[in-house]
Amino acid sequence: MSRHTFTMIKPDAMKNGHAGAIIDRFIKEGFKIVALKMTNLSTDKAGEFYAIHKERSFYGELVEFMSSGPIIAAILEKENAVTAFRDLIGATNPAQAAEGTIRKSFATSVGENAVHGSDSDENAKIESDFFFSVLERF
Ligand code: ADP
Ligand code: MG
Repeated sequence: MSRHTFTMIKPDAMKNGHAGAIIDRFIKEGFKIVALKMTNLSTDKAGEFYAIHKERSFYGELVEFMSSGPIIAAILEKENAVTAFRDLIGATNPAQAAEGTIRKSFATSVGENAVHGSDSDENAKIESDFFFSVLERF
């Protein structure tokens, strides 16, 4: 199991002023911040990041939403990081997210669900490399 995962604080959480509280949750849960940046995805870049969902009905909506405002991207480190972080963020749909999870606390809908979390070690590496050079990792 890898010690790293990749996350984004999505445009809804940024607009709603939750970025600080969400980063605090990462740290309090024992994740070390290895890399961090604020950026705004173009529609092209958002489309590329979510290319795996290209055939899904919500793809257009997702790309539009993810490029609608700034996001914070980060690489986080902890034992079994991918699984531990998916547990911390909760279900995709906040209506189904467990009490105490980040999506339960901060997400507004299944689409605008506050945070991204990698779903596998392989995707954590691909997604980290999408945003961060070696020089940006600590
Ligand atoms: P997760 O982010 O929990 O891994 P998915 O990989 O299935 O979820 O979907 C990627 C993102 O696409 C979700 O986080 C959410 O922003 C959006 N999404 C997923 N399902 C829907 C849906 N039914 N309607 C609108 N947006 C969706
Ligand atoms: Mg996913």
